[in-house]
Formats: sequence, structure tokens, C-alpha cells
Amino acid sequence: MMKIVIFDRNQGVGEPQRYDPAMNDAAIENLIRKYDRPVPRYTSYPTAVQFTQTPSWEAHKALIHRLDPSEPVSIYIHIPFCHSLCHYCGCHTRIVGRYGPVSEYIATLTQEIALFSSTAKKRHSASRIHFGGGSPNLASTEDLEKIMLALGRAFHIPPEAQIDMECDPRLLSEEKIRALALMGIRRVSLGVQDFDPNVQGAINRIQPFEQVKNCVDNLRRHGIENINFDLITGLPLQTLETVEATLEKTLSLSPDRIAVFAYAHVPWMKKHQHLLEKFPRPDALTRYKMSELVREMLCHNGFTDIGIDHYAQNTDSLALAQQAGQLRRNFQGYTDDTATTLIGFGLSSISQYADAYIQNTTDAPAYRKAIAEGRIPSARSCYLTEQDQSRRALIERIMCDFEADLSNYRGIETPLESLTELLQDGLITLSHRKRIIRITEKGRPFVRLVAACFDQYLNQAELRHARAV
Ligand code: SF4
Repeated sequence: MMKIVIFDRNQGVGEPQRYDPAMNDAAIENLIRKYDRPVPRYTSYPTAVQFTQTPSWEAHKALIHRLDPSEPVSIYIHIPFCHSLCHYCGCHTRIVGRYGPVSEYIATLTQEIALFSSTAKKRHSASRIHFGGGSPNLASTEDLEKIMLALGRAFHIPPEAQIDMECDPRLLSEEKIRALALMGIRRVSLGVQDFDPNVQGAINRIQPFEQVKNCVDNLRRHGIENINFDLITGLPLQTLETVEATLEKTLSLSPDRIAVFAYAHVPWMKKHQHLLEKFPRPDALTRYKMSELVREMLCHNGFTDIGIDHYAQNTDSLALAQQAGQLRRNFQGYTDDTATTLIGFGLSSISQYADAYIQNTTDAPAYRKAIAEGRIPSARSCYLTEQDQSRRALIERIMCDFEADLSNYRGIETPLESLTELLQDGLITLSHRKRIIRITEKGRPFVRLVAACFDQYLNQAELRHARAV
């Protein structure tokens, strides 16, 4: 068990080390106000709002045919069902009171996997399989086994392939954990969000600390040693003190990785988020201080900060990938996955090919119809030009390394006009004839704004994204 460094309240808990110690609250508020604009999270480039073309099945098949047989692929399985709605939810999911729809969906999903297999020219090797949702552990053991069987028929899955699953602790019995371990799952991400009972009540997600601790103990007992926690800051009723208490409890359970996402309040897209508006939510300065608190507490307790919202124990493969300059960013956030092709299965899932993104439909009847007709149910796509591919690589490095040498990316000029303000405010430096860009400590929380300076599509789409900080 790691030793937890507890903050001394008399020395000012809630006033943790600044990203830039010279800055006071007023200076931070000015920066936040100045840069409070919608910016993508850059889990892809171009971002999903640019997936506007409707791909033909012939075009999609051509992408599958062109896959390099010597390169392993990464697989994403989307299970879009939950048993209860968290009021902050921004995911594509459906709340179900009975199991029938889940079972029917998984039957179609396994047909989609078989369809991919019959379309591909070769049985490709899979280096990773990620189950996301929704709550994938809502699926029965039998149904999860059916998916694994379908994947085993469609792909070569070597013993070292990493299989991981996002899990809702409220649905994670010891029996289910035993089954997951037998299926080969070795990493589980637990949706924790916050341990404070009042915050849990406000967001409609009650899961006491003991319940999560029980899950962690059972996962380890059954050999699932790699455990991630997902937390959220910026939720209703959260204060610096409640976030600190949540972090202390989190550290007491020694997860390997912790993702701390900033809550995105987008009720115009997710209507149920209006339900949170009856509670006070932390203001922008407090949210900024929460991110400082998280960083200081975790980095004092054996974690490395990875990018903008991930933390990993110093010996974890994600921290090692970062040290080696091999950190990647994909739809699941920061990753050490080296596969360049991602094949997504299920409603709304996205596949990433060398020069294209293809997204499945989000419409359940259309999904079933396409599969019945022998087509993968793709609905939106985006083909990348050479310039897009160059910008994608650059933006990934900025988001992962907080620096980049623009000379390594063909056809990209230094966007001096858009960088000038960031330079004047000390958020970045430019050197070597203004070709090497570095994000300063003070600029780290604003890294998405820096990446946005290289986004050729932003103006058309900017109003649909979350805030920059
Ligand atoms: S468990 Fe996750 S996907 Fe399901 S409703 Fe809650 S936040 Fe949304």
C-alpha cells in the first residue's frame, strides 16, 4: 500500500502548488476569462464533427481490404446500455430495465464481427481489445463470451494481447469478476467519479466507498491486477475539500492509473444535464484549482501526470511510454497502444484507418438493418488528405509531449497570428526560427488551445465542443 501524503489544512488545503507559482487568483481568472472558448479534446484529428461524408459500403470494404496484414489492429467493442442514468452522462448509451435489448444487440454485434471477418482478406492479429460503453459489464457472462468467441474466429488474438473493460462498480459482483478474469481481461477501468455521498446523490450515482473497495479487492484476488479509476471534477456540490477527500480515498486503493476528467456541461446536446442545474457547480477558478489540487496530490504520491487528464503510477506502462516519447492519443484518451488501426464494432463506434475515420450509425434499427443486409452499418466518415495526416501527427505530439518540432511535419507553417497571444501570455515558447513550440508549465491547462491553432477546421465546428480549461 502506498504512503499517502496528506495535505496540512492549516497550510492551506485548496491552495496547492500553482502551475506557475508567480500567478495569483486574479491573474488566473483573467487567463481563464480570456481563453474561455470552445475547443476540441483532440482524441482525433479531424475531430468527430468533421465526419460528415456518408461512406458507401464499397468504399468501406476497400479500406478493410487495404489493411496491412503484418500490422496488428486494436479493437473497440461498444456496449451502449446502462441500468441507471447518471445525470452528468455525456456518452452514447441507453438505459434499460430488462435484459432483452442487450441480448439482441449482442447477437447483432457478433454478426458485425463476422461480417468484418468475411470482408477482410486475412485474419488480422489483434493487439488490444477494449470494451467500452455504456456499461459493458451489464452484459451477461454468456453474452460477453459470445463476443470473445466471435472475435477469436475473426482475429488472431495472441496470449499477450491486452483485453480491458470499462466497468460500473455497482454491477461488478465477484462472480462477474471471476468470469472476466477467465475471459482474459487483465485491465479494468472503474467508473468512480466522486466518493462524496452528497455529490453522488446530486449526480444520481450512489456507490459507497466500501462497494468500490470490494470490487478492487475482488479484482486483485482474481488476478486482474491493472486497475484504472475514472474521476470527474467540476460536478455539482464538489468543493476543493470534497475533491481532496475523494483523492485520499482513491489513493488508499492504489489504482495503477487515474483519469480525472473535467465535467462538460452541454445540456443543449445532453438534455438530462439540466437536472444538475438545481445544484451549485464550482466556478471556473475553483475548477482550475481542482486540477492543480489533483495534480499536486497525485504527483506527491507516486503518480506521473500524463497529458491533460491522466495520471499513472511512475512504473506503469503509460508513464514509461510518456518517458520514451511513445505516448499516443486516441478515442479512449491517452494510451500506450502502438497499433495505428482501430476497428470499432457496435452502435456509434469509430474505426480509424491510415487515411480515414468511419463511424457506425447511432440508430439501432438502421444498425440491425445494415447487418441483416450484409453491410457494416457505417454512417459517417472522413477521409484524410496528406495535409490532414500531417496535422493529425503534429496535434497528437502537442497533446502528448507538450512540445513539437514543426519542421518534422510536411507543409505546416508556423501559425504566428494565432500563436502570438499565447506567446505573449507565457503559455508557449517558440525557438529555432519559430519552428520548435513548447507549452510552458503555466500553459499546460491550455494545451488544447495550442493544438487548436493547427486545426484547419475549427471555425466551422467550434461551438459544439467543451470549454478550453
Ligand atoms: S454509467 Fe457511464 S455511460 Fe452509463 S449513464 Fe452513467 S456515465 Fe453514462
